[in-house]
Amino acid sequence: MSRQYYIAGNWKMHKTRAEAAALANELVEQLKGASHKYLVAPSFTLIETVAGIVKGTNIRLGAQNMAPEEQGAHTGEVSVLQLKDIGVETVILGHSERRHNYLEYDSLINKKVHLALKHGLEVILCVGELLEEREAGQAEKVCESQIVNGLEDVSAPELANVVIAYEPVWAIGTGKTATPEDADAIHAYIRKVIGRLYSSTAAENIIIQYGGSVKSDNVKALMAKENIDGALVGGASLKSETFVPIAKFS
Ligand code: PEP
Repeated sequence: MSRQYYIAGNWKMHKTRAEAAALANELVEQLKGASHKYLVAPSFTLIETVAGIVKGTNIRLGAQNMAPEEQGAHTGEVSVLQLKDIGVETVILGHSERRHNYLEYDSLINKKVHLALKHGLEVILCVGELLEEREAGQAEKVCESQIVNGLEDVSAPELANVVIAYEPVWAIGTGKTATPEDADAIHAYIRKVIGRLYSSTAAENIIIQYGGSVKSDNVKALMAKENIDGALVGGASLKSETFVPIAKFS
């Protein structure tokens, strides 16, 4: 198996430029030589500052969203061309906060996925069920439909630049984590869906991160599971004291 652990920090709508620079500098220093793959995704206004700090290090630069069009009359949006221009390598798409608070739907997310891949960005496609969907036994079905629709017409070569993040909505920012067994079961199911849509090789190779209240005290048990290949971390990514122990788990 060739999958590498991938630990990503989603800073959401936090930090000023000075605070972001301080955190980025601490991470560069403390993750130097560390063995997994890393990403930080700051707010748009912070990206250029952080770009200057992580450039040439083992930390990739990410954005938390982007527009579904390259350019034009799209007030308030940020384009893939603008992101690439300041050094962004990865974009998080379909985060549950975008889906549920800003009403982003699968076909819109799919348009963004295509645009990002066309421009050579890596995509972290987030999927995950609401609490009521889990309680109704719909978790697999919800994730499957978000994947099938989010990846519609994405080719097999393009899939190599896609990471899936399974983030049960009820576990995001709540302090509740899926048990490693429950998370692994959904990851295994997602892998099966990728196998059906693409190939067994694609299923074997795709990185599937878990997200939802990942902390230093639960990361090891989660990552020990066969189908969990990394973490998308929100709250605990905002301080080096909490992110570095997650990033350096072994
Ligand atoms: C997230 O926003 O992707 C996330 C997983 O947040 P938290 O770690 O705070 O639950």
